[in-house]
Amino acid sequence: MHCNDFEILMNEYNDGELQKEKEPLLFAHLAQCERCREDFKLYSNMQFKYREKFDEYPDTLDSRIMATLKNRQPVPDKTLFQKQVPVYYLQAAVVAVLALVVYVVFQMREFDYRIENQKSQYMQIFEAVRYQEQQMNRLMDDAPSAKVRAVIDNTEIQKKQM
Ligand SMILES: [Zn+2]
Repeated sequence: MHCNDFEILMNEYNDGELQKEKEPLLFAHLAQCERCREDFKLYSNMQFKYREKFDEYPDTLDSRIMATLKNRQPVPDKTLFQKQVPVYYLQAAVVAVLALVVYVVFQMREFDYRIENQKSQYMQIFEAVRYQEQQMNRLMDDAPSAKVRAVIDNTEIQKKQM
């Protein structure tokens, strides 16, 4: 985190909007960075004067800031944010898995529908083939006279040849 980032936290703090768990992060930086500390005092003075609650930057706050330096080893600024990352990733993963499940279910339904469609098409073709077969059988049944004649013709031909 850079000084610019802490400026945002400072503004939040002075507006009373800074999350409690981020306070040590801000104070740890203020304890180490004189420039930001001066800015912070200036901001706070302006803020307090604006609110007409305090005339001066309260000493207690100053000592609280410096106390963080004594109490805490320089805390790596990242720790707070690193802790938040896995939760974020987990949420993203859950959303991704849900989206995948919805997609797969949808695809499967689509696939089922297509299979069902193909099935009925095959059934139609099967019916058509069966119908043709029946027609051909009927035709064959109707055709014996032709066969008989063919046999007769053959025998007549054979007789003539003899
Ligand atoms: Zn700074």
